[in-house]
Amino acid sequence: MIDFPLDAAFQAKVDWTRAFVREHVEPLDHLWPAPTAPYDRSLTKARAILKPLQEEVRRQGLWACHLDSDLGGPGYGQVKLVHINEILGRTNWGPVVFGCQGPDSGNSEILARFGTEAQKDRWLAPLLAGEMYSCFSMTEPDGGADPTLFKCRAVQDGDDWIIEGEKWYSSHANFCDFLIVMAVTDPEAAPYERASMFIVPADAQGIEFVRETGLFTEPLGGKGGHPYVRYNRVRVPASAMLGPRGKGFMVAQSRLGGGRIHHAMRTIGLVQKCLDMMGERAQSRALRNGPLSKIQGVQYDLADSWIALQQFRLHVLYVSWLVDQGREDDLRLAISGLKVATATIAKDVVWRAMHLHGALGVSNEMPFAHMLMTAAMLGLADGPTEVHRSVVGRLVARQYQAAEGPNPSEHLPSRRAAALRLHPDALD
Ligand SMILES: Cc1cc2nc3c(=O)[nH]c(=O)nc-3n(C[C@H](O)[C@H](O)[C@H](O)COP(=O)(O)OP(=O)(O)OC[C@H]3O[C@@H](n4cnc5c(N)ncnc54)[C@H](O)[C@@H]3O)c2cc1C
Repeated sequence: MIDFPLDAAFQAKVDWTRAFVREHVEPLDHLWPAPTAPYDRSLTKARAILKPLQEEVRRQGLWACHLDSDLGGPGYGQVKLVHINEILGRTNWGPVVFGCQGPDSGNSEILARFGTEAQKDRWLAPLLAGEMYSCFSMTEPDGGADPTLFKCRAVQDGDDWIIEGEKWYSSHANFCDFLIVMAVTDPEAAPYERASMFIVPADAQGIEFVRETGLFTEPLGGKGGHPYVRYNRVRVPASAMLGPRGKGFMVAQSRLGGGRIHHAMRTIGLVQKCLDMMGERAQSRALRNGPLSKIQGVQYDLADSWIALQQFRLHVLYVSWLVDQGREDDLRLAISGLKVATATIAKDVVWRAMHLHGALGVSNEMPFAHMLMTAAMLGLADGPTEVHRSVVGRLVARQYQAAEGPNPSEHLPSRRAAALRLHPDALD
């Protein structure tokens, strides 16, 4: 059996991470369960516990594991990262304790790739040090999946740019220190050359929260983590532009691949946790003739979940390996395929695990509401499943040519006729 062994030193890090998360990170989830809690600096007691945990992660050399060594990470690459992220995926607080939470991880990538030295000093360095949080403000109320519909404008005024428009689902806009905002600077250009990126300090004049939208597990009117933001003539200097003018789509695209793979890695942990819960429940809940695990339908659910998880984990490792090998040409298809698989497995297994727990499963005494919300989020954030499924279909179709004649190339009478031409005496 192939067991993909890790080197002993890294295996020790993985073992340490598993024990540390169980002992020190999961308790944070239970004390401060709100999805936004890890970003909320007003939770002073939580912050006091968080700081020494982050220090311990640093001492272990596991801080910001997604980063290369030149950016202060260990430079493990993606395949090794799978083993860490799948452990963190069992928790809400894990990514912040280990310095690899979205959207900061993706934002640090684009700051490192496209930032000027001054932008890196001011924003990237404190972001990597865990002293700042950030936001990626791209989706608009009237245009999400299709970014060519974006209307938020940035207009030049002397040496400054003035940003005017609305964004929606700008995750952590109300907890962050700066926002990376995509705005249309060149409306007459080709659709994918119209927008540019700007770094906007969170305390810039003119930023308004129309609503601090939360997820469906959070109370209406509370401080939700995905605000509807209005930029009311927000003025930034020319030096706030991140990356080349008109290349906002290219900058955005370059951060999304990593984010999608990291979501997939964490989803392994989420699904494994559901499978663990299903297995325990199937053995614990007794019916007249024995435990639930004796019921064939329950066995099917366990089997389907286990098989899907094995396939998914190998899929994540494969796409991570493609990234490590620098196989850029293969990544668009691979990452879109993985994005669809991530949302699908999360939805299926979370639902099965919840259902197997009966009424307890839909109560507020089990973690399924947050898990269901995570599964739903995985099908939307970084692009809806349907859009990625179309990308996969399109790119797969592109690998094929139309049949040469009137029949498919595997048409049996035609193949047989060809075989007989090759071996005319073969059949009596
Ligand atoms: C938890 C969460 C966090 C998010 N964080 C951020 C963030 O930090 N920054 C940010 O900018 N955005 C963020 N988003 C927004 C996310 O990127 C968008 O929700 C996503 O791009 C879809 O846009 P939309 O919601 O406007 O859906 P719409 O564009 O209205 O699409 C709705 C549905 O229509 C269908 N559909 C649309 N287009 C197509 C198509 N071409 N082919 C087939 N079907 C289609 C799909 O079923 C899709 O789900 C976040 C979203 C969630 C849920």
